[in-house]
Amino acid sequence: MEPRSAAATGKDFPYTARTTCYIEVHKDGTVTHGNDRAAYERAVAGTSRLFAVWPGEWSSHLFAIDDLDEYAKAHGIKHDEERTGLKEHVHDVRWEPDSYANDSPRSPYISVDVTLDCGCEIHDRRTFAAQMKEQQGWDVATSGGWGSSGQPGGRKKYSLRVRRKSLAD
Ligand SMILES: [Zn+2]
Repeated sequence: MEPRSAAATGKDFPYTARTTCYIEVHKDGTVTHGNDRAAYERAVAGTSRLFAVWPGEWSSHLFAIDDLDEYAKAHGIKHDEERTGLKEHVHDVRWEPDSYANDSPRSPYISVDVTLDCGCEIHDRRTFAAQMKEQQGWDVATSGGWGSSGQPGGRKKYSLRVRRKSLAD
């Protein structure tokens, strides 16, 4: 069976779908499973090749991961501005405690309203959390609810929960 090209399917390829299963074929013919950063680095170095099995309703298809850049962006190995809405820069962040939130004073997290004056948008909370940890030391909660509001054409306001102590200084 000739593998199809994942690159040819473009943005529609389900890189991160739960049902997509990755196979790494090493130079010596060994076959392993997984899609971690090390596998990506081996594939870039050319010491292995990555394939994905995309199970269909009647049969499964084998795809060659021939766009490693797209693959890395989908898995968060490489930063992707388009997917995350976030530039790789120091964000211009405005924030205030959410006055409508009913946070218990004993809760380690407080709800805050965040506006990004740099023009970025948060499409991926995990990426934003990692950036804010690095830039401001914030511990942004990556589980539980979050949301955004705003007028069309205006800046969005994001409701996030941040560990109280990490906001303090
Ligand atoms: Zn920004």
